[in-house]
Amino acid sequence: MKIHILTLFPEMFTPVTEASILGRAGEKGILDINLIQIRDFSNDKHNKADDTPFGGGVGMVMLADPIFGALRSIGPEEEVKKKKILYMSPRGKMLDQKTIESLAAEKEMVILCGHYEGVDQRVLDYWDMEEVSIGDYILTGGELPAMVLIDAVSRFIPGVLGTQESATDESIYSGLLECDQYTKPREYAGMTVPEVLFNGNHKLIHLWQYENALTLTRDRRPDLLEKWLREEKKLTKDEKKILDKIMSGEQLP
Ligand code: SAM
Repeated sequence: MKIHILTLFPEMFTPVTEASILGRAGEKGILDINLIQIRDFSNDKHNKADDTPFGGGVGMVMLADPIFGALRSIGPEEEVKKKKILYMSPRGKMLDQKTIESLAAEKEMVILCGHYEGVDQRVLDYWDMEEVSIGDYILTGGELPAMVLIDAVSRFIPGVLGTQESATDESIYSGLLECDQYTKPREYAGMTVPEVLFNGNHKLIHLWQYENALTLTRDRRPDLLEKWLREEKKLTKDEKKILDKIMSGEQLP
């Protein structure tokens, strides 16, 4: 996937996009990040990329012209307009797993990162940008939200995760929060690991993990549990028994 990122702070991206799993995806050519400095397209002698808002108010608004120039540097306007163009914005649709997966199917996309008070509305209108939010809080710029989106989307691009990792075997994706996890040593700081995880009985281990995940989801994210319960699913007799127990309000042992 090729991702063009329009930003005033391209240097913020490389520590993230060149490290760990994203870095490996870049080396393998699965992920191609094209960082575009919006300021390079300013026609102002001081490379100005923002100005005071019409109508008054605090802060600065990013100018349309340098952003238009940055978008046109990607390719012919009619070709760029065919691509998915996102604007990271607290006014946008909240990013969720479904959106992440549908974005992962794109071959190419463009992400505009706002800064200061945001961008001139005419940029969003002319280029038909989709506004995407990462949560109900305000960040200083769209760079971190763009990185969150890229990281989450990349996990669903074939070849990005190694064979040991799975994009779907995680909290939220399965519909429930993930169960508690443990690794070596068996005893640490006087705390032990649930005995069932050592008995080699895969059915019992699965039932313990299922019960743990259900209890956590009920206690922390009742909204998720409610949604999960509405979905059609085939439960074994044991799983059904555990579900009834959890729904009757029993706490984790
Ligand atoms: N004045 C804008 C408003 O009230 O909607 C907020 C501007 S914010 C300080 C600067 C930039 O950070 C925005 O243009 C946007 O690109 C980005 N940003 C801030 N919070 C965000 C969020 N929750 N999700 C996505 N982008 C966000």
